[in-house]
Amino acid sequence: MRRLDPPQIGTREAFRMCISARISLPMRTVLGSYELNVVIAAGEYEQACRTSTLHHLKPAAFAPPPSQKGDKDALIAMYERRMGPHHPGRPVYEEARNRKTKCPMCGVGSVRQVDHHMPKSIYPYLAAVPINLLPICSDCNFAKSDSAPTCYEEQTLHPYFDDIDEDRWLKARLITSLDDGSAYEAMPLDRPASWVIEFYVDPPFSWDSRLAGRVRHHFETFNLAQLFEDQAADELPGIELSIEEVFRDGGALGVSEYMAGLARSRARLHKNSWMVALYEALAAHDWFCSGGFRQVAAG
Ligand SMILES: [Zn+2]
Repeated sequence: MRRLDPPQIGTREAFRMCISARISLPMRTVLGSYELNVVIAAGEYEQACRTSTLHHLKPAAFAPPPSQKGDKDALIAMYERRMGPHHPGRPVYEEARNRKTKCPMCGVGSVRQVDHHMPKSIYPYLAAVPINLLPICSDCNFAKSDSAPTCYEEQTLHPYFDDIDEDRWLKARLITSLDDGSAYEAMPLDRPASWVIEFYVDPPFSWDSRLAGRVRHHFETFNLAQLFEDQAADELPGIELSIEEVFRDGGALGVSEYMAGLARSRARLHKNSWMVALYEALAAHDWFCSGGFRQVAAG
């Protein structure tokens, strides 16, 4: 997860941009009557984000009365139509999407879309609220369900409000296995039947169990273990030659120091990137550093 600064455009400003033009007077009157509801809803939402209590938000307080179905649709259309290309609300959408960053949910994909942190179908007052609009990659947007959290642990991390990247929580381990599939610790010069690099959440002591559960939920929601494993499989063949050259001169210790150096270098940017976890795990693995890297790089 990557922390991002919240958008500069405020709720009221965004709301007025969306209904400023290309809209009939009756529709503008209807939507305009909801401005105060939306501003109040955005304030409650922000407070819930800051206190990690989104699961306490009651959908009824974030939507017109059920009898006003047309108004609900019009509020949702503020995002779907009035932030479209050439519409006055477009800058709100673009501020969310045009971030010079990787997807904040996975840290791997390129930002292609905008996601509603709290779904607009359940919380229509938040459909066009800038702090509810998050940049996201296509895979993460597909993986995330259109439902609201029902408990503390089900809140995925919010890049504008949650900041856990000062702590090291992402780890990896290289697991080697025998022919029968059972895991064992391969020794130098062994040729294990298979191996896998497993990424996992390793909560620091300073976290309580609820925060650990929440980060694990985020990790599982966006399939990060598989995503990082795929990235590692792609990365290792590309650095095999460099590792081989280090091994030739410095042996297993040299490889270990080389991998640890790569981890330190990557950690300067993002402590919890998959590369930091990968390189650290490999630096600590005797079999890998003693020549196992060739088998790993071969896939
Ligand atoms: Zn992503």
